[in-house]
Amino acid sequence: MEKAVDKEIAVCWLRRDLRLFDNTALYHALDSGLPVQVIFIFDPEILNTLPHKKDQRVAFIHQELEKINLKLLEFGASLLVLHEVPKKAFEKLIFDTPVREVYANHDYEPYARKRDKEVKDLLNENNVGFTTYKDQVMFEKAEVMKPDGTPYTVFTPYSKKWKENLYRQSVPEFPSETLLSHLLKKANGRIPSLKEIGFQNVELHISEADLSEGLIKDYHKKRDLPFVEGTSRAGIHLRFGTVSVRQLVKQALQQNETWLNELIWREFFMMILYHFPHVEQHNFRRKYDRIPWRNNEREFELWCRGETGYPMVDAGMRQLNQTGWMHNRVRMVVAGFLCKHLLIDWRWGEAYFAEKLLDYELASNNGNWQWAAGTGCDSAPYFRIFNPESQLKKFDPDLKYVKTWIPNFRAGYLEPIVEHKFARARALEVYKKALN
Ligand code: FAD
Repeated sequence: MEKAVDKEIAVCWLRRDLRLFDNTALYHALDSGLPVQVIFIFDPEILNTLPHKKDQRVAFIHQELEKINLKLLEFGASLLVLHEVPKKAFEKLIFDTPVREVYANHDYEPYARKRDKEVKDLLNENNVGFTTYKDQVMFEKAEVMKPDGTPYTVFTPYSKKWKENLYRQSVPEFPSETLLSHLLKKANGRIPSLKEIGFQNVELHISEADLSEGLIKDYHKKRDLPFVEGTSRAGIHLRFGTVSVRQLVKQALQQNETWLNELIWREFFMMILYHFPHVEQHNFRRKYDRIPWRNNEREFELWCRGETGYPMVDAGMRQLNQTGWMHNRVRMVVAGFLCKHLLIDWRWGEAYFAEKLLDYELASNNGNWQWAAGTGCDSAPYFRIFNPESQLKKFDPDLKYVKTWIPNFRAGYLEPIVEHKFARARALEVYKKALN
């Protein structure tokens, strides 16, 4: 098909940035002078890895696409949703439509980088541009490095440098929502249903992030108490970009430094995954490969079901199983318990969390699991072993959290699957022997 210059368009490819406001790639596309078609691609290579066809995360994406489409319709435009391996989807799209430039935001996960390279090569071979931007983080790739030019592997100096960089500039804004009149005026038809992409309808239990001033200002006082609604629940929204991290950082700067540090932890682990992609499958510290994990399947099963006999561990796993979310303090306790008390490979726990967590994020999940196992960068040293009973006394003294998730809870409700002192001594011996 001959491409008439005056009909050329730009495409803005949404991926994990499902919003029309403060979206960097969309802003630049709309500012390019070309009419813009917004697209989303359901990628079978990602969808096929999901074990359950009732998946709230896929349903959430679907719901957000519907919302975006409704907004686009107000401007006489619409969202084009494809269900195809992205490279193939673009092969067809550029054959049918005179696309001059594709805009997207950076994605740092290993699979996404490979996918984007393939798409870029295809587009460039066909004289179509592929321009990408930083959007899901404040600082990416090599923007926060040690003075010697190598990546940080310890959080505190990284966060110090991150803040120094931030204070040198103002938080940028990309008000894409003000340019929506530049969209291509075209109705492209309908968004495929969940069923058409191989999934089932589910009732969504995903709340908006709580970014109220009251919550954020008190964050440092309440964030460790699992029986209180004291955290933002922004995780899934950061994962899929239904909030803008720049707006969250601006709020954190004004309202709470502890909360700002959590947003920096997120970027720290993204930076680690970017520079050390081996962490996706392996221990960050190679010598931990020598740990002989026990990997007892029955014990793993009891951990997954929340039947270990340790109330905080069991309540946490039941919260995860029933809601797709677990409080951070409890995530640390259950993860430490799996790796240290049961000596089960952190990758088993990581995979279970990846299946269940609505806010699942490869970099954060991997980084935190390796932290708990002691195998990662800036990890808790292996000899620091959480005592699940003391954690319970400290963070849920009145058993409010435990009783919420374990109905009819009473002391001795289940025989502990392993005795704490014995497990602690065993873990110390196994780690020490492997590492020396
Ligand atoms: P808030 O406490 O309000 O924090 C705001 C945001 O900061 C979070 O949404 C998140 O994006 C970021 N953040 C907070 N704590 C951390 C942290 N320790 N590491 C990285 N980012 C952080 N977080 C995920 O987003 N996805 C995961 O898959 C994930 N897996 C985890 C696995 C384990 C074993 C542990 C111990 C923690 C994991 N976390 C993960 C980190 C943390 O538990 C969650 O981000 C947090 O509980 C989400 O609740 P919230 O959205 O209310 O966060």
